[in-house]
Amino acid sequence: MKGYAMLKIGESGWIEKDTPACGPLDAIVKPLAVAICTSDVHTLWEGAIGDRHNMILGHEASAEVVEVGSEVKDFKPGDRVLIPAITPDWNSLEAQAGYSMHSGGMLAGWKFSNFKDGVFSEYFHVNDADGNLALMPEGMDPADACILSDMVPTGFHAVELADVQLGDTVLVIGIGPVGLMSVAGAALRGASRIIAVGTRPVCIEAAKGYGATDFISYKDGPIDEQVMELTGGKGVDRVCIAGGTVETFEPAVKALKPGGKIGNVNYLGSGDYINIPRVEWGVGMGHKDIRGGLMPGGRLRMEKLSSLVTAGRLDLHPECTHVFHGWDHLEEALFLMRDKPADLIKPVVVID
Ligand SMILES: [Zn+2]
Repeated sequence: MKGYAMLKIGESGWIEKDTPACGPLDAIVKPLAVAICTSDVHTLWEGAIGDRHNMILGHEASAEVVEVGSEVKDFKPGDRVLIPAITPDWNSLEAQAGYSMHSGGMLAGWKFSNFKDGVFSEYFHVNDADGNLALMPEGMDPADACILSDMVPTGFHAVELADVQLGDTVLVIGIGPVGLMSVAGAALRGASRIIAVGTRPVCIEAAKGYGATDFISYKDGPIDEQVMELTGGKGVDRVCIAGGTVETFEPAVKALKPGGKIGNVNYLGSGDYINIPRVEWGVGMGHKDIRGGLMPGGRLRMEKLSSLVTAGRLDLHPECTHVFHGWDHLEEALFLMRDKPADLIKPVVVID
């Protein structure tokens, strides 16, 4: 089979590989659509997870099952499926402890294009098929279905980590494709006011559609000062961080009320330490929780999140700004994600 691979840091291209073998609990699937993620850019061009040789890239896809292992009960060849970017080993002790995403070691539930080949290939392997696949709802667009792999569960996980409650004022830092889903998740959880930090017009328009009520730009001064001005000096109840750097925690803590919570899902690609401002953290006693986590993955979550789409409560279409058709356009889509033109939110490639 052919797959689009990282040859080494900074170099990529199409390669030939053997079709993966199917273990008794596994499935082999072929993509219906794949989406490009900023993580692919970090992995390939920034070497964020270290060097990899001839590793097929990609972790966001919808697919059709072509083979299942002898012990797989609920899926069969021909099924159209959703696949989470994080595919834990559900029998692991970490999963039993409630941390499936860390099954086998910290962050080790992230397998595609990290510990094994990813999804940018004619066929790919899914471990623990009954635990990780979900049937794609009838009539769902395969391009939209890719957004359920990572953008929805990751963006929503920031909302879960920040524990957004009815009537909360929520600050969402970063409104790229993940942050937009944090906006949508906060709105679904019943936030009253959602203050979004972002600058690109295409993202601001989408964020309005997903429920953002106020906008601030880091270009207009410190985020926390603008938040304080908007909230009459009170600050916010929750912060979802879906963009920025190790520096972003400083305004987040400053903008947060005592007793508030910060949920981070942003991938911190550089910097050795995170600065927490001592005084605004209540000199260590402010009850300002800072939580960061990789999304859990798995079938149940996929089924629940996709039910929001079929029930008409979540529209994924605004995320897919650039839809291509055919593998020939994969590289173009990947380079687009690296170069981020002004009108881009998410590039998706449908495999016709
Ligand atoms: Zn991703």
